[in-house]
Amino acid sequence: MTTNQSLQARKTQVIARGQGNMYPVYVEKALNSEVWDVEGNRYIDLGTGIAVCNTGHSHPKVIAAVKEQVEKFSHTCIMVNPYEVGVELAEKLTAIAPGNSEKKAIFVSTGAEAVENCVKIARAKTGRRGVIAFNGGFHGRTNLAMALTGKITPYKNLFGPFPGDIFHAPFPIDVHGISVEQSLKALENLFKVDIAPEDTAAIIVEPVQGEGGFYQAPAEFLQALRKLCDQHGILLIADEIQTGFGRTGKMFSFEHAHVEPDLITMAKGIAGGFPIAAVVGKSEIMDAPNPGGLGGTYGGSPVACSAALAVLDVIESDNLIARANIIGQRFNQRLSKLKEKYPALILNVRNQGAMIALELIENGDAEQPNTALTQAIIAGAKKAGLILLACGFYGNVIRFLPALTMPDDIMTEALDNFEALFEQL
Ligand code: PLP
Repeated sequence: MTTNQSLQARKTQVIARGQGNMYPVYVEKALNSEVWDVEGNRYIDLGTGIAVCNTGHSHPKVIAAVKEQVEKFSHTCIMVNPYEVGVELAEKLTAIAPGNSEKKAIFVSTGAEAVENCVKIARAKTGRRGVIAFNGGFHGRTNLAMALTGKITPYKNLFGPFPGDIFHAPFPIDVHGISVEQSLKALENLFKVDIAPEDTAAIIVEPVQGEGGFYQAPAEFLQALRKLCDQHGILLIADEIQTGFGRTGKMFSFEHAHVEPDLITMAKGIAGGFPIAAVVGKSEIMDAPNPGGLGGTYGGSPVACSAALAVLDVIESDNLIARANIIGQRFNQRLSKLKEKYPALILNVRNQGAMIALELIENGDAEQPNTALTQAIIAGAKKAGLILLACGFYGNVIRFLPALTMPDDIMTEALDNFEALFEQL
């Protein structure tokens, strides 16, 4: 009989450990917010494949769109023989991206590629070399995206040397005493010591740090970055890969701050699990590279474009942006009650829409991350019938990324199970 254990034994023989294994639950099927493993066990999914299945697993509209496309054709390469679903998706993405400037898009297959292409476009437009990113940020596992990533373990260990001309500044995190003023001051120093503003092509920022621990950039920080970029002709890149497509209670998180970035990376929630990513940006910037300089063989696959169009349709028709806010409030209320009961263990409950986090500490000390308790919760989640993920610089943040289609009764069950699991430990 095929079991989780037998598959895990086979997997460790043939899949290298670098492609880590967070959760030895081998999936047989998944529907909306529920997942069943090969042994028939049921789980409520609070990870959605790392913020991908915003419209839930196997949404019927997404499946129908994919089936219809596959029956017509599955690949021609958008750079060779383009197709209408690609044009239509670019029209939709440029229309929903924050701000009123005229925009264009390009398609790639992964988030990291979208980040790499943003840097290429920014350098082509400005003729400058420097790129500034933030401590604790995550931008992907390819070479340049990894260099931009501020979190060392496990993403950068053993992988140097890294591409040059990448610089890091502190990200403002109020619960850890890093203020917006301090972050901006550090940026000023960086401009004096490491890279002159006139040599800086771009600043890339996650509006809510994802892998870094679900820390929200205050609106005034994003507004100050916009001002700084405008002052010096630097391009502002919004990495909305984890925050996009309704997840934070707006289509894109930058909208909370009323800031228009120059370039935006989009991936994950864009197509409900079909591999596609995009860069969307101001037309005069997007057109800086020469024809053939961007994209790739699979970028903008017609099957993934069809899935993305269906996802956008579902976000609108099912009012999922409003739903993200309701889900976020519900989680926050319940988790805040747990914090009241365990103030020495829970530093903070925070959410922007349905991007929800619980930060665990020891002895009520904000600077003592409780990684052991976080790991115990993640390990216990399987028995509690939950799929849960951690994040954070020290791995001491439990993150909740429910599908925006999660029904009320499943949400209550998930929160009951989580609370019971927490109380047991
Ligand atoms: N940027 C952010 C903010 C992310 O959260 C991720 C993935 O977690 C990436 C970039 C990389 O995306 P991908 O894993 O699709 O390459």
